[in-house]
Amino acid sequence: MKNALDWKSLFSSGIPPEDTPRHEAAEAYDEWRRNFIRERLYVLFYLGFIANPAFIALDYLQHREYLNPLFIVRVALQLGLLCGFLLFKFGPKSIPPNWFVILWVVVANLCITQMTVILGGFSSQYYNGLNLVYLTGAVIVPVSWPSHLAAQLVTLSSYYVSNSLGPQPDFNAAIENSFFLIWTCVALLFSVGLYERLQRAEFFARVSERHARQELEISNQKLLELDRLKSDFFANISHEIRTPLTLTLGAFQALAKSKLSEDAGELVKGGIRNSSRLLFLINELLDLAKFDSGRASLRKRCLDFAALVRGVVTNFDSSPIRRIHLKGLAEPVALEGDSRQLKKVLYNLLSNAFKFSDAQTGQVWIRLASKDHSIELEVEDNGIGIPRQQLARIFDRFTQVEGGATRRYEGSGIGLALVKEIVALHGGTIAVESDLGRGSIFTITLPRGNVTEDHVLGVPDEEDDQTFLPAQAAERQVDSPSSPALRLNAPLVLVVDDNADMRSYVERILRREYRIILAKDGAEALEQAQRLRPELIVTDVMMPKMSGHDLLQAVRRDKALRSVPIVFLTARAGTEARVESLDAGADDYLSKPFDELELLARVGNLIRTRAQERELVQLQKEKISRFLPPNLADLIMSGEHDDFLRGHRQEISVLFIDLRGFTAFVELAAPEEVMTVLRDYQAVMGRLVSEYGGTLERFVGDAVMVYFNDPLPCPNHAEQAVKLAVAMRQAVESLRHEWKAQGIHLGAGIGIATGYATIGAIGFEGRKDYAAIGPVTNLAARLCSEAQHGQILISDRVISLVKELVTFELIGEMNLKGVQKPVSVAQVIGTAVSSSNGN
Ligand code: ADP
Repeated sequence: MKNALDWKSLFSSGIPPEDTPRHEAAEAYDEWRRNFIRERLYVLFYLGFIANPAFIALDYLQHREYLNPLFIVRVALQLGLLCGFLLFKFGPKSIPPNWFVILWVVVANLCITQMTVILGGFSSQYYNGLNLVYLTGAVIVPVSWPSHLAAQLVTLSSYYVSNSLGPQPDFNAAIENSFFLIWTCVALLFSVGLYERLQRAEFFARVSERHARQELEISNQKLLELDRLKSDFFANISHEIRTPLTLTLGAFQALAKSKLSEDAGELVKGGIRNSSRLLFLINELLDLAKFDSGRASLRKRCLDFAALVRGVVTNFDSSPIRRIHLKGLAEPVALEGDSRQLKKVLYNLLSNAFKFSDAQTGQVWIRLASKDHSIELEVEDNGIGIPRQQLARIFDRFTQVEGGATRRYEGSGIGLALVKEIVALHGGTIAVESDLGRGSIFTITLPRGNVTEDHVLGVPDEEDDQTFLPAQAAERQVDSPSSPALRLNAPLVLVVDDNADMRSYVERILRREYRIILAKDGAEALEQAQRLRPELIVTDVMMPKMSGHDLLQAVRRDKALRSVPIVFLTARAGTEARVESLDAGADDYLSKPFDELELLARVGNLIRTRAQERELVQLQKEKISRFLPPNLADLIMSGEHDDFLRGHRQEISVLFIDLRGFTAFVELAAPEEVMTVLRDYQAVMGRLVSEYGGTLERFVGDAVMVYFNDPLPCPNHAEQAVKLAVAMRQAVESLRHEWKAQGIHLGAGIGIATGYATIGAIGFEGRKDYAAIGPVTNLAARLCSEAQHGQILISDRVISLVKELVTFELIGEMNLKGVQKPVSVAQVIGTAVSSSNGN
């Protein structure tokens, strides 16, 4: 236990290792301790010099008869102390100071011992002087208990030895005195030890604290330096960006004045809007950097604040449906302020009021109230409002109520931070009240400064006003109508971006080769994709309602859309963003700004690859569906339901048909003729099997085996098998006419059985067959071989399943080869709807 008394550390000299943060600190403690003892030694010596002569009064009052010898001892004591003091003050500094503590105690107590010897040995009360000396030493210099112990041992032994040698020593008194002496020594040793321990702990705590403070100061300095560097870098780089951007903007503005085609005009307008927006943002960042570095200052002049507000308001649309209501702005309101900075405040508040309220029904109220020494401006909107818990945070930098990839509103989160800084620099305050879903009120209070109404100068015109472009103005553009595609069957590409300019930019690039549909967020894109099945989707990542990543997940989950390639267009550059996009499952990735040709090439590649894949799939499907019903082929091609190839038990209906007279025909006819007959017959049978949703197990010569209810479920499998049998019987009948004309006499018998079988793939890696193993297949084959031409024999289980739907005639019980019990058999006359497949 740390807090319990640590006997070892109490009596150990020096500093315990765990308490020693550093070797230097231990040395510092020793040094500090030496100085402490030296300071206290002066006090000790001075006290000795005063106390010794003072006690002569006691000698005089109590032991006048021994005054002389006692006086001699006191003189000796005084001299001893003086020598000690001189040695301490002027002697070599290498002598450890605690030796002087020992010296002081020993000199004083040897003299006192001498006095007890003079005054009657152990019975003399002067032994109390020893205690007094121990006590004084320990209280004045409460460190180094070993020194105190040494001094105590020397002086106690001299007391006992000197007084024992005298005539008739009083040992009873010696025992009594010993109790007081020894317990005083022990108590003092403990007190000195504990005090020293405490002092040491305090010393190290102070050292660590000082150390921590120093480290904190150093890292603080480093952080300040880094912050300064960052601000400088930021300011420099922003300036570097600002210059080419201003030139770009200038070039666009010059172009806008020239004669341009409609398309080019749109492009130039987009260029102006977006360069201005970027310039606005960079200027805001620059302003923030100025505030950080303390370089922000105001160019205050007297101005008409009402006119300034009116001027800013003209930059915002006020239509009958989306109105700005002004109050208190008709009369001039004098204010001392920086018009340029105040405009920024207003632009930010107004653009937020517009941005965060409905484009159709949004209303903004601006109220100005002037008081004697201040003015109060309220900007109120009926927009989305701000959640109560976010109110305190919105003035922090980069804070947005809706952050993340699905935020609905564009913005940087700088505006209000800047507004707050500017208002504070004017000595004013800003406050916000908001009701979620109902709107917000921002209230600015500014001191009027040193003005009178006559001072008002109007609003000074400032250069560079386009940099105050409000964010809402940048979003005025509507999607340009898609131009007709080059070819009517050109691949359809879905372009998704929440920025209208970006959408039309991508559209303009791609529409040269593709038909384009546009969506402004993930949700709209998903809906469009499900409706129009585009060949490819090009999407932004950060979008309102549904981000690009969410859109990707939704498309991949959708069975019909999952193979549509998706290209991400993102503002984030770098390998990390690329890996993240591809990891998420995007087929390709381009970071903004991107090269037009690169976008075209990547989109072209993906569309070509997809077309090839589709062709390949189609080819395989065609091959497979020659042998399997189309729905089974689809199942296999989708690659999703391989389970049906694993062995499983299932009730199925098995239809077996084979030709009567076929063996005789094969013996007599030429092989080519047999082949032709078989092909015609199998073609007709195969088509019917597909039509009725059966699974063609195989053709074995003239025999055909068909399953129902596996691998595709068929709830009315027995009925379906009977319907197929009836259709087959009719088909064979028409074939028979053709065969008869060629002199061929063939007929067909059919057997149907229903029962459980184990179904799945059999065979080996090189060749697999889909087969059903179980008595039901044998039963169907046996019934088939019992059937005369034109007969459809069905087993008892089939009878029980179809008796309501089929007309049949019971034949009775039959003993069939390989079947243990006799089977009730019926022959089918017809079905209620024998000419349709009943699906
Ligand atoms: P931003 O560039 O995102 O508009 P601001 O610093 O101007 O940055 O605003 C910070 C956030 O405060 C905004 O993202 C928005 O969430 C919230 N906010 C500001 N003004 C309004 C308002 N009038 N109505 C609703 N929310 C607002």
